Amino acid sequence: MTQQFHNFIGGEWVPTSGDTFEVRNPADTDEVVGLFPLATEDEVRAAVAAAEEAQPGWGTTPGPVRGEVLYRAAEIIRRRADELAADLTREEGKTLAESKGEVLRSADILDYFAGEGRRMGGETLPAETRNTLLFTTRMPLGVVAIITPWNFPIAIPTWKIAPALISGNAVVFKPASQSPLTAVHLVEVLAEAGLPKGVINLVIGSGSKVGNVLVTDERVDGVSFTGSYEVGTGIYLQTAKRMIRTQLEMGGKNPLIVAADADLDKAVALVTRGGFGLTGQACTATSRVVVDRAVAREFTDRLTAAARALKVGPGLQQGSQMGPAVSKGQRETDLEYIEIGQNEGARLVAGGSNGAGDGLGKGHFVAPTVFTDVRPDMRIAQEEIFGPVISVIEAGDFEDAMQIADNIGFGLAASICTNDLRKALQFAERIEAGLVKVNQPTTGVPLHAPFGGFKHSSSGTFKEQGKGAVDFYTRIKTVSIEVS
Ligand code: NAP
Ligand code: MG
Repeated sequence: MTQQFHNFIGGEWVPTSGDTFEVRNPADTDEVVGLFPLATEDEVRAAVAAAEEAQPGWGTTPGPVRGEVLYRAAEIIRRRADELAADLTREEGKTLAESKGEVLRSADILDYFAGEGRRMGGETLPAETRNTLLFTTRMPLGVVAIITPWNFPIAIPTWKIAPALISGNAVVFKPASQSPLTAVHLVEVLAEAGLPKGVINLVIGSGSKVGNVLVTDERVDGVSFTGSYEVGTGIYLQTAKRMIRTQLEMGGKNPLIVAADADLDKAVALVTRGGFGLTGQACTATSRVVVDRAVAREFTDRLTAAARALKVGPGLQQGSQMGPAVSKGQRETDLEYIEIGQNEGARLVAGGSNGAGDGLGKGHFVAPTVFTDVRPDMRIAQEEIFGPVISVIEAGDFEDAMQIADNIGFGLAASICTNDLRKALQFAERIEAGLVKVNQPTTGVPLHAPFGGFKHSSSGTFKEQGKGAVDFYTRIKTVSIEVS
């Protein structure tokens, strides 16, 4: 029997009055992961109402007490880590090791923001009159809508929900339709940790329907979204009308420069990890490698060998180094871009096939793919593919490489592989990206460091993670008290 999952509204798992949909394992489409609700408009409105009712009580609960709930949630996640990781792999496809890392990171994120319950505060300022106390204090926004993508189905929701909760907000959470099971688990954990009824609500269903009702509901005071540029900009147009606080983190087309002096083994390791890790389905994935002509041949040969050596297979199977694409549609997009690249005149040196080796026919597999002879203006070098497809672009020298790296609409992550201090510093200073790495993969950022993009990768309104996360979820109130 296929298990049926529900929305979580006002502290109860409520069966939908609408339709349901199936999620299947992307590594084996014969396996149904679960049946999930397509929340109706009334159900979304009920979730917002529950959040609105619960928020004042939670918002006035002392920060350290709110923190205790988050600490308990972190403990529960660690206790259930193996089960949560296996379910994450079953619905999203990434390897078990990748899932486990993501699940444990969520526990760490909860711990970090639990601590904010004792730290976040305002400032005391000199008053202009005697016997007067002048200070600032942080107030929650109220009810916040959190809309997330499928590629980090527990880490991204956690790095939004944890700061929202510690700041005293109530949450209505709309996860991606491709990864609702992990969202159900996260909400189970928060409920078990003792979060009062109505403080967290989960509505699963169609992005355009559920998402649109949420972002246009007058009781919603803030929206935090991660996903594609197209959907993000559509949300911004809606929330701007009511001038509610909005945070959008969107796509990337992230470059890694291989300088002439680079350690090529290291460069290949960084590109392989950043480009094929998580099946290339990371917003910070390396998708453009800009390599100095002097070492291009040698580098490309080694990268090609590394790509061909990667073992593609089901994430739950031991030894698999790269799982499938998340869905049929994503796999088709990947294959379509591989065709576009060939038609544009780029040279395919690794992958390109559907990646379905022996026994992989029932999954959405794509082989790790490398193109060389890519020109910076080709579509495969300009558009986000969100799959395991790497474009290698040759540059004449460092200045040329900088130009190519920056000539793009996105600005999320960027890296350079070099031991030349001057180049490293120039790169860090000049590149238009929110996350800059030297001799590290474009992917990955410590959870206490600010995260967010430049250009079309972000609304640029607030950073996620670190201290900036609490800034997004709070309003500063200035208080002046004179006693006579
Ligand atoms: P997406 O298609 O934009 O969807 C993101 C979320 O928005 C999903 O929950 C989706 O629901 C929902 N949604 C869709 N249409 C909506 C609408 N009209 N109103 C409100 N919500 C709506 O993105 P995705 O395919 O899940 O994820 C891939 C994208 O996320 C890539 O572009 C990637 O770069 C980006 N990403 C960015 C970051 C970052 O931090 N910068 C991190 C990870 C991923 P449904 O699933 O039901 O459609
Ligand atoms: Mg999508």
